[in-house]
Amino acid sequence: MATKGNISVHTENIFPIIKKFLYSDHEIFLRELVSNAVDATQKLKTLSGSGEAKGELGDLKIEVKLNKEAKTLHIIDKGIGMTEEEVGKYINQLAFSSAEEFLEKYKDKGAQVIGHFGLGFYSAFMVAHKVELHTKSYKEGANAVKWTCDGSTEFEISESEKTERGTEVILHIAEDSMEFNDDFRIKGILDKYCKFLPVEISFEDKVLNNPSPLWTKAPADCTKEDYEAFYKELYPFSETPLFWIHLNVDYPFKLTGILYFPKIKNEFEPTRNKIQLYSNQVFVTDSVQDIVPEFLMLLHGVIDSPDIPLNVSRSYLQSDANVKKINSHITKKVADKLEEIYKQDRVEYNAKWESVGTFVKYGMISEEKFYDRGVKFCLLQNKAKDFYTLEEYKEKVASTQTDKDNKVVFLYSNDMVAHDSFIQAVEKRGYDVLAMDGVLDNHFISNVENKIENVTWKRVDSDSVDKLIDKDIKKESVLSDADQTALKEAFEKDFSFAGTYKFSTEALSPDDSFLTLIKPEWERRMKEMQKMQGMNIFGNMPDTFNVVINTNHPLSLKLSKMTAGDAKTQLSKQAFDLARLSQNLLHGEELTAFIQRNTKELSA
Ligand code: ADP
Repeated sequence: MATKGNISVHTENIFPIIKKFLYSDHEIFLRELVSNAVDATQKLKTLSGSGEAKGELGDLKIEVKLNKEAKTLHIIDKGIGMTEEEVGKYINQLAFSSAEEFLEKYKDKGAQVIGHFGLGFYSAFMVAHKVELHTKSYKEGANAVKWTCDGSTEFEISESEKTERGTEVILHIAEDSMEFNDDFRIKGILDKYCKFLPVEISFEDKVLNNPSPLWTKAPADCTKEDYEAFYKELYPFSETPLFWIHLNVDYPFKLTGILYFPKIKNEFEPTRNKIQLYSNQVFVTDSVQDIVPEFLMLLHGVIDSPDIPLNVSRSYLQSDANVKKINSHITKKVADKLEEIYKQDRVEYNAKWESVGTFVKYGMISEEKFYDRGVKFCLLQNKAKDFYTLEEYKEKVASTQTDKDNKVVFLYSNDMVAHDSFIQAVEKRGYDVLAMDGVLDNHFISNVENKIENVTWKRVDSDSVDKLIDKDIKKESVLSDADQTALKEAFEKDFSFAGTYKFSTEALSPDDSFLTLIKPEWERRMKEMQKMQGMNIFGNMPDTFNVVINTNHPLSLKLSKMTAGDAKTQLSKQAFDLARLSQNLLHGEELTAFIQRNTKELSA
């Protein structure tokens, strides 16, 4: 005999609300229903294990079937099933009240919560105009029960002809949801959410999932091949990863997963392979920015934690205690792994630095905690392509590159070709040059500079060679003071170009350049910072350069001896243009004039 009842006396028709509210993410209904089927199956296994459920369990595969003609979608499990009483309790009361509560709670929050758990069984009504549930409990002598609901607040319970243990949910697909009356669409949703569910799921008679993904196994039982194969399973078209971390925490929060370090060619290239978040093997999302520290967003792989609250807003998530703990746990594990490789196999570590360096530098800049770890295994590479940690490098250059204030000066270049003349000059002094040409390097330098005692960084073009590392050794100038001033004033008069070039004299070695065009370190950094922060205070101002005249260079002597006139001006101009040409600062009309002048002289 059929019983009729009301789902709730004080609720209007809830289904149109569900439908409207969850509009943007209808497809999750299938995840919810398949998850319920998985839960029911797992519960049965547990009950069987404890002897409470008797007899052979048989094949526990969950089937999803689409009947396109009838426009019905079936989710069939062989789990614990429900008695009539349980249907009343779980479906009519519990499921309904949780749907109601969910709506109450998130009415005003909009789309941000959509796609997270919370609605369960009733999400079926996002796509179905009628839902049938046939269920038979594992309990001995239980009768099969049929429950139907057509989307109004009324439901109907009657006897079912179901003979097998378990539950079958039948969705009668609604007119406006016919996109789900499509094999390809259903398979797509199952592939997305159910790929690693712990019970076999079949669709069109094919099992779609891998019920025991590698992250659920004990790390000790996994081989290198296993990890690489699993990576391919996650990201079929990607290159082999560099290494990986197997997360496996039980307490104080549950967290499993495998994080892979990919090969990185361009820093910050947008990655297609994102970290996937699971909750007990159910896919939740691949936007994990609130769970994984930002600098590790470039990692690939999966994390699985039932302890991450899923139906809450993002700002709440960030302040959640478990999320914070998970965040620092991942940071620590990444640091441990890097340190381990660094300590165990320096050659291998060096080889991987190109990719790993991005994580390490970004991590040191953005996470105080990671800085303290990273500083031990962060590498610098010099022009000779040798690798050093910061401490090692300090030791290497301390004897030659300590200035009068007892600061060790790290000389670097972000462009070895453009800085060639500067590099030659410092190498002549026996100094070493670091290659700092990554996108992050400017930021990195200003960050570590404050933290490493007695080290200062200077780009090779930021000062004349003797001032870069000022050892307070006064070189004698061959020119008298008056001659020096006269030389400087002559240049200023002819070439300062409204302040673009500022001239000064310095007694360098006779074989250093006659003119050096430099950009002071702090000035350049200020500009770079402002550019990065999107401010443009100085951005539109023309670049200014300091021009150092080497008063010990033979040309200085020559110019000082010449009387003012065309020949002298021409010689200075030629020297100045050549210096600018080598820095790529000669453009437009000036460059044309330079070429004409020189070709004329050649042909004359
Ligand atoms: P939740 O799964 O979050 O508890 P649901 O609304 O999805 O909420 O389901 C409510 C309850 O209905 C479940 O807790 C479970 O007891 C019962 N249930 C739902 N689907 C099944 C199923 N396929 N087999 C057995 N019980 C089920």
